[in-house]
Amino acid sequence: MARTSKAVICREVDRPVVVEEIEVESPRRGEVMIKVAACGVCRSGLSVTTGTIPLPPPVVLGHEGAGVVVEVGEGVTDYAVGDHVISVFIAMCGRCRYCTTGRPSLCDEASKAIYTLPDGTVRTRDRQGRPLNVFTGCGVMAEYATLHTDNVMKIDADVPLDRAALVSCGVMTGVGAVTNTARVAPGSSAVVFGAGGVGLNAIQACAIAGAATIVAVDTADAKLALARQFGATHTVNAKQEENVVKTVRRLTGGGAEYAFECVGSGAIVAQAYGSLRKGGTAVVVGVAGPKDTTTVRTATFPFEEKTLTGTYLGSARPRDDFARLLALYKAKRLKLDELITRTYGIDEAPQAFADLTEGRNARGVIVF
Ligand SMILES: [Zn+2]
Ligand SMILES: [Zn+2]
Repeated sequence: MARTSKAVICREVDRPVVVEEIEVESPRRGEVMIKVAACGVCRSGLSVTTGTIPLPPPVVLGHEGAGVVVEVGEGVTDYAVGDHVISVFIAMCGRCRYCTTGRPSLCDEASKAIYTLPDGTVRTRDRQGRPLNVFTGCGVMAEYATLHTDNVMKIDADVPLDRAALVSCGVMTGVGAVTNTARVAPGSSAVVFGAGGVGLNAIQACAIAGAATIVAVDTADAKLALARQFGATHTVNAKQEENVVKTVRRLTGGGAEYAFECVGSGAIVAQAYGSLRKGGTAVVVGVAGPKDTTTVRTATFPFEEKTLTGTYLGSARPRDDFARLLALYKAKRLKLDELITRTYGIDEAPQAFADLTEGRNARGVIVF
């Protein structure tokens, strides 16, 4: 049955998000409806509201959610009412050249449906009956959401849903950049630019991977204190440094072997690349605006054999990687509890986004 649900919506670019009552339709073939328990407040949601990620409003936000299945559509056999699930914001088709070569984060089909369900339609309408787009096929910053089963993954019921939610975007992106994209080696040196919801996870993944020197760079002392808690061996406040690159190169004994840009700025990409020693790899994790560019010295590619690359959702293979992350959490090797520095009710969503803009949280989470 259709359900009335409060939802967080971007109605207009450059305006604060609004909380509205909407109608969420029952799942159709291959879909499930979930009662959302928690949804992380992630920068890419904010980027929709600022137009950095250009999507046609109105858009129901939320792509980092977890909840419980309350209804299953026709033909769904692998999910049942009561199952605990997390949202997966890339619907992997399993058939395209990327899916079939182990790179589902680049799935051709997923990049077609970034504001609808995979079939190009939506199950969400406002009180006037007008359709509402859903961010990345999810739209889980709402009490209820209907998603295609390609956009959900079953998890064990013993993981708290507010923790599990974070795995589906911020944690996977930060950890995957380190373990899947760069493949950080034990005893190595790494620098992470930006110690927010993604950067902190890159930092803890460097620690898990056994990096000996982990430098965190941010402009907020509170974030740098968190960075230490997550495994940074050195911290640099970029506001207080005349030459960040020089400082990082000194702290890493001549340059880092790996650099992670978790901000989304061409200027910082250049710093990350400049912080590398010969043979090093810089990974761009942050999402910059469509017009942002970066500049690096071309000759360093041949002379220093440096690599500049990118990662989307931590180059994840979600069905495998999400399970690994939750296993690491259960083994008390991956910090999730410590990431949640504040929770909000859904009516407080505008405040949650304002706090994200101001960088007040490691991760804010909306709980239902
Ligand atoms: Zn996200
Ligand atoms: Zn695919």
